[in-house]
Amino acid sequence: MKKMLPFTRPAIDEETIQGVVEVLRSGWLASGPKVAEFEAALSRYLGGRPIRTQTSATASLEMALLAAGIGAGHEVITPAMSFVATANVITRTGARPVFVDVGLDSRNIDLDQVEAAITERTRALMPVHFSGLPVDMDRLYDIARRHELRVVEDAAHAIGSSWKGRRIGSFGDLVCFSFHPNKNMTTIEGGAVSGGSADEVKALELHRWHGQLKSPSGVDTLFAGGKANLSDVAARVGIGQLARLEEFNARRRELVARYYELWSDNPPVRLPERGDEGHSWHIFAPLLPLSKMTMTRAQFIEAMAQRGIGVGIHYPAIHLFTAYRQLGYREGQFPNAEQIGRETITLPLFPAMELSDVDRVVEAVNEVIAGARN
Ligand SMILES: *Cc1c(COP(=O)(O)O)cnc(C)c1O
Repeated sequence: MKKMLPFTRPAIDEETIQGVVEVLRSGWLASGPKVAEFEAALSRYLGGRPIRTQTSATASLEMALLAAGIGAGHEVITPAMSFVATANVITRTGARPVFVDVGLDSRNIDLDQVEAAITERTRALMPVHFSGLPVDMDRLYDIARRHELRVVEDAAHAIGSSWKGRRIGSFGDLVCFSFHPNKNMTTIEGGAVSGGSADEVKALELHRWHGQLKSPSGVDTLFAGGKANLSDVAARVGIGQLARLEEFNARRRELVARYYELWSDNPPVRLPERGDEGHSWHIFAPLLPLSKMTMTRAQFIEAMAQRGIGVGIHYPAIHLFTAYRQLGYREGQFPNAEQIGRETITLPLFPAMELSDVDRVVEAVNEVIAGARN
């Protein structure tokens, strides 16, 4: 069998590894000069905006909501299909996640349904730039302005994406990135919030470090804050990754172009919306034609694994999980999210892949589906 091709793999260069070794030898491991350097580099990359890093995007999103004053009695509108963290962070603040459906091909929140879901309790919108395809930012912020809502963008997939030539995170209210190893750049684990008012940025600092304020007269704890400060070791990985992000994302776009080229004519899978050069292609996730197949998705994934190819699932519909059924959500409410949840497959896409790896994946998908037509 050929060597296993995973659906994703981080690319850490030797220079970064050496940089980490230096941090480990420096005697300063937790938040220090490397975190400051990483935040400054991210800020430069995002047009000079305030940047506060955290230990995960989950922490970034939760703290951004808290900083924006979201809590019990409030509603936050969010897509029914995303990684579950998107909804969990809303729930954890005490607010209620109000789901709306996503586009079947864009996978992004349906903005027509967003307007219809706004009530007097709605305080914020939490869209996801799914797979790195930006949400329509003009319409999104127009809705937010007209209804006086704060926007907390889940940009976990979208570092390096841009909308009409402007980078995601270089504008907008509170924009949260993930640096998990599966994302377009990594700090091992990590996240960041870009933007926010001066008060929100101060609140983010308090939430990520015990609610504690240090001044010449001593320390005070203003509220029971959390603990989510990034380490210098992680930040040093991020500095090396950010320097190569544009190169990584250009490579992702090349590989995706090969998928579209090979599947330009009558593809056996339903391809996602292609977007433009502002798409950073965190994942490439077509839909399986399950209703025309004699095979389940699990069997498809197993058949691909036998051919040495890793396939992921991103993601099941959130409202069908136990925790969200308990809030009253049920099957049939968000048909696109449910269909994506059933049919989505994440095919290999990472910067170190060769174009010939794409050829190999396409050939295997074609073969497995052709052998399973009913
Ligand atoms: C990965 C991801 C998160 C959470 O990121 P972590 O850094 O792992 O906490 C949140 N939202 C979406 C859409 C994600 O894909």
